[in-house]
Amino acid sequence: MTIIDTHAHLYDFPNADDVLRDSAAAGVSDVVALGVDLASSKKHIEIVEQLQNDSPPLVGGGRGMQVHLALGLHPGNIQTDHIDATFLFFLEELRRFNLRSSNIVAIGEAGLDFWYKWVRQDDAKKNEQRVVFQRHLDLAREFDLPIVVHCRGAWRESLGMIKAAHVKKAVFHWYSGPVDVLKDILDAGFLISGSLALEYSPEARQAVEYAQIDRILVETDTPVRGATPKDVWRSFKALCQIKGIDEDKALAVVNANARAFFNIEE
Ligand SMILES: [Zn+2]
Repeated sequence: MTIIDTHAHLYDFPNADDVLRDSAAAGVSDVVALGVDLASSKKHIEIVEQLQNDSPPLVGGGRGMQVHLALGLHPGNIQTDHIDATFLFFLEELRRFNLRSSNIVAIGEAGLDFWYKWVRQDDAKKNEQRVVFQRHLDLAREFDLPIVVHCRGAWRESLGMIKAAHVKKAVFHWYSGPVDVLKDILDAGFLISGSLALEYSPEARQAVEYAQIDRILVETDTPVRGATPKDVWRSFKALCQIKGIDEDKALAVVNANARAFFNIEE
């Protein structure tokens, strides 16, 4: 019994190796590590390169735990004078890797967050977020990769941008927006993910209650609230409890969802 953590940030751990080993022992087979800016994306690439040199593999037996990468500039991490350098790096990395054999599986974490205090009343900051999100969507489209979306307070606009960009795969991570937008997200063929917020947040719980199980991924958003990737089991158990579904059946479905979405081999 293994599970995939589809959304984690590993760059701030002084020893990511230990965190991953601990999660591997708890049955986590794969982690999708999302960068939020240039430095964190570089750090994740280092972590993956180090893992590949690890022998024996991090998990006993089989293929070992795998860490997959997503490159992104989070709306909360935008620094105006760093944007171009960040995207130049993303573009070089995407070209450098042969995508099929590389660990880059997605673009993100990216999106619109109009709830930040410094953004709420500032149209220029909102516009900057839009421009940056659009650049991610262009990359997702060009390299045919899924996009992992962070969104608060601009759900419908984010969905509109994704559709207009003709990006094929999108997941609204930690979805806590309104149900009418969620309906349109699902109608467009996109996914949502449920985090540890499924244990306590009425909005997050309502979203997974509404969405069909084959459109849901599970995640931790490590290190939020002290989580590490193994806590994805908690998100998963909360999901099963909310939906009143059998854990064995649900596990097969959420793992298949994650594999199909990120193109991760078993
Ligand atoms: Zn995140």
